[in-house]
Amino acid sequence: IERTFIAVKLDGVQRGLVSEIIGRFERKGYKLVAIKSVVPSRPIAEAHYGDLRARPFFKGLVDYMTSGRAPVIAMVWEGPDVIRQGRRIIGATNPMDAQPGSIRGDFTLTVGRNIIHGSDSFESATFEIGLWFDPEEVY
Ligand code: ATP
Ligand code: MG
Repeated sequence: IERTFIAVKLDGVQRGLVSEIIGRFERKGYKLVAIKSVVPSRPIAEAHYGDLRARPFFKGLVDYMTSGRAPVIAMVWEGPDVIRQGRRIIGATNPMDAQPGSIRGDFTLTVGRNIIHGSDSFESATFEIGLWFDPEEVY
């Protein structure tokens, strides 16, 4: 069975959308195998977004994620095709391209405040689960 890393980012926490987001994955039938509330350290946030290091918004993104204005809800979800289906449940990166019915399509307006993260491949899921969680924290 497949696993993916999903995080409600601090804007999603501040807006009170944690239960809405968890509910969508639960009602689809996926299984929650790890969850914690955490303010990521700078090294973790930089590693998490390592593929975006050269982008102009990288520093602002890492500053935001590590700001501590609210925690991130880090999760691991398990089930058939959960990496790809999770990305569909979340919707396109830019909320203006995200379909109604997706999380970003239903709740967000700007790419810098798109409330949720989901791994985009098996490789990134494996890396991100290991980055955010110790093995004993995952069921
Ligand atoms: P995520 O990795 O968060 O699930 P994604 O895979 O859809 O999102 P990425 O290209 O990996 O998109 O970008 C990671 C995050 O960086 C986005 O979720 C968004 O918060 C931020 N980001 C991406 N592009 C921009 C941009 N042009 N301006 C500001 N922030 C951006
Ligand atoms: Mg991404």
